[in-house]
Amino acid sequence: MKALHPSSLESLARRHAPEGSWILSVYLNLDPQVRANRRGAHKLVLDRMLKELEATLEDPQAVAHLQEDAEWVRNQVALHIPKGKSLVLFCDLSEGYTYQEDLPIRLPNGVWYERRPYIRPLLDAWKEYERTGIVVVDREKARFLVASMGEVEELEEAFQTPAVRHRATAGTDHMRSQMIFQRRAATWSHWFLKEVADSLHDMIEAHGIDRVVLVGPEEVTAELKRILPKGVLARVAARVRAPVTAKPKELLDVVLPALRELDAARERDLVAECITSARKAQAESPKAVLGLDAVLNAVNQSRVYQILVPAGFSASGWHCPACDVLLDHAPSEETCPYCSGSLQEMDDVVWAACDRVLALGGKVEEIGTDGAKETLQKDGPLGAFLR
Ligand SMILES: [Zn+2]
Repeated sequence: MKALHPSSLESLARRHAPEGSWILSVYLNLDPQVRANRRGAHKLVLDRMLKELEATLEDPQAVAHLQEDAEWVRNQVALHIPKGKSLVLFCDLSEGYTYQEDLPIRLPNGVWYERRPYIRPLLDAWKEYERTGIVVVDREKARFLVASMGEVEELEEAFQTPAVRHRATAGTDHMRSQMIFQRRAATWSHWFLKEVADSLHDMIEAHGIDRVVLVGPEEVTAELKRILPKGVLARVAARVRAPVTAKPKELLDVVLPALRELDAARERDLVAECITSARKAQAESPKAVLGLDAVLNAVNQSRVYQILVPAGFSASGWHCPACDVLLDHAPSEETCPYCSGSLQEMDDVVWAACDRVLALGGKVEEIGTDGAKETLQKDGPLGAFLR
């Protein structure tokens, strides 16, 4: 997942097409895995977007240039085996430039044809997506890693205290020297942790860290936690035991279960809050709605700020191509209740609704946590918080 890495965002941002050339940028929200290759709705979406884009161009040279790039994109998408939730492509074939990547998050569909790769959605996603700082400490060594979207990266060279030297002594001095040594070691260790706490503060700022997991021997992480600045302390999500020398992959193995538990708790809260707000909603100004029909209704009115979908859930429905309304069932004569246009049946109206929410700057929350998912499915199956 390079596209959402600061260094690759930077290199994408630096890319610039020469005179007479343009870069085609494509973001494509892929069909849910279960439905992949069944209808290929995303291929139709792509085709429509590319045609609309072409229609906006006047310069015949630009049109020919776009057609070449669009052809490449169509081919890539046709051959593509989805590994993520959305796909991003940048290309300028005349310059031999192509870039393609699966992303683990849903981004709104869109195409752009400009001098530079259109990276705004990636930047927004980078800001939006939760990053977890992992601090691994013992009394002499500390490491800092950032985990995001299931990947982990070591940030800094490990830093450590200057070795505490034990002066060789003999006889009656020995006890005394031992005490001094221990006291000194304790002081050094405290200073060291203080230094870790301060660096941690800077790293949170520099890397946009949302939450922090402290990893190490129990008494060390406890002491570190006690001396953390308030702003850092507020972000501490968990403490986990692991040796300071663990490999990044091993760290992720111990940290992920803790993070998953936090995410699960968050999902349970979201579902509970949505159900509570929807049930006590005032008729004039509901803050949340529940149910396929009610949520689609809110989507049609562009009022959804956050849509909650049980993971893997889909439902067939109807769509009015004339006024873009989404419906879970059609009136008997299969005409749109708003504009009387003829309705089209849709394989997955939930996916279309999520697309709409994303396109309007809203959020899609897939609820996969055991318990929360079933609750939402039973009381919903969809839920939404409204603007
Ligand atoms: Zn209509």
